[in-house]
Amino acid sequence: PAPDPILAVNNIEVIYDHVILVLKGVSLEVPRGGIVALLGANGAGKTTTLKAISSLLRAERGDVTKGSITFAGERVDRLSPDDLVRRGCIQVLEGRHCFGHLTIEENLLTGAYTRRDGNAAIRRDLEAVYETFPRLRQRRSAMAGYTSGGEQQMCAIGRAIMSKPKMILLDEPSMGLAPQIVEEIFEIVRDLNTKQGVSFLLAEQNTNMALRYATYGYILETGRVVMDGPAESLRENEDVKEFYLGVA
Ligand code: ATP
Repeated sequence: PAPDPILAVNNIEVIYDHVILVLKGVSLEVPRGGIVALLGANGAGKTTTLKAISSLLRAERGDVTKGSITFAGERVDRLSPDDLVRRGCIQVLEGRHCFGHLTIEENLLTGAYTRRDGNAAIRRDLEAVYETFPRLRQRRSAMAGYTSGGEQQMCAIGRAIMSKPKMILLDEPSMGLAPQIVEEIFEIVRDLNTKQGVSFLLAEQNTNMALRYATYGYILETGRVVMDGPAESLRENEDVKEFYLGVA
């Protein structure tokens, strides 16, 4: 384990609607400045894990009933989603979730809603987002609902960046996108990581892609971590190859 991880999830249990036990003791860590992949099949509990961390679980009648979550050295498992965003931890939801009736630029600006550092700083960061995502600059005046899936994914990540995060919880960025666009998005993730020091916890069903960009991975099966290790060793593991990489 890293000496001072940005995120530490310790043995959490999650129950929906007071009865449905979905996470059965999940532990994981993200080192400062790391990209960590959270892998597993549909329904394994990846989204639930991210929402437990970002506190978005409560909106879905889910509860963390055991264990603890520490972000940047502080217990955060009783905080609101807004509190987490203010502390620098933000989730990008699966399925993008841009406001379809707002322009790309308006969407990006909504990402700054928790900030108190004034307009000039926000404009500067908007410019930085356009540097990172030239496509968003081109499409700044387009209604998000009329842009492509890849552009909407970029918009969702760009909006998260506007909150000045230390860490992004990124849920299935590759979903429904062509391989070339997926590659483009993962390159941007790597860029944000190396140039701005943003840490990532990346939930993905695209194991192959995730393990090319992450340095470490955890594999979830029905609410438990069944395997974890450095990305390289997971890529070489025979079970991972057979069950998750589609090569035997
Ligand atoms: P996906 O790729 O579909 O997002 P996942 O690995 O992220 O899969 P989760 O979405 O976390 O998995 O779902 C884990 C389990 O929890 C599933 O069995 C799912 O049916 C159940 N679940 C998810 N949300 C709820 C909810 N709001 N109420 C009850 N059960 C839920």
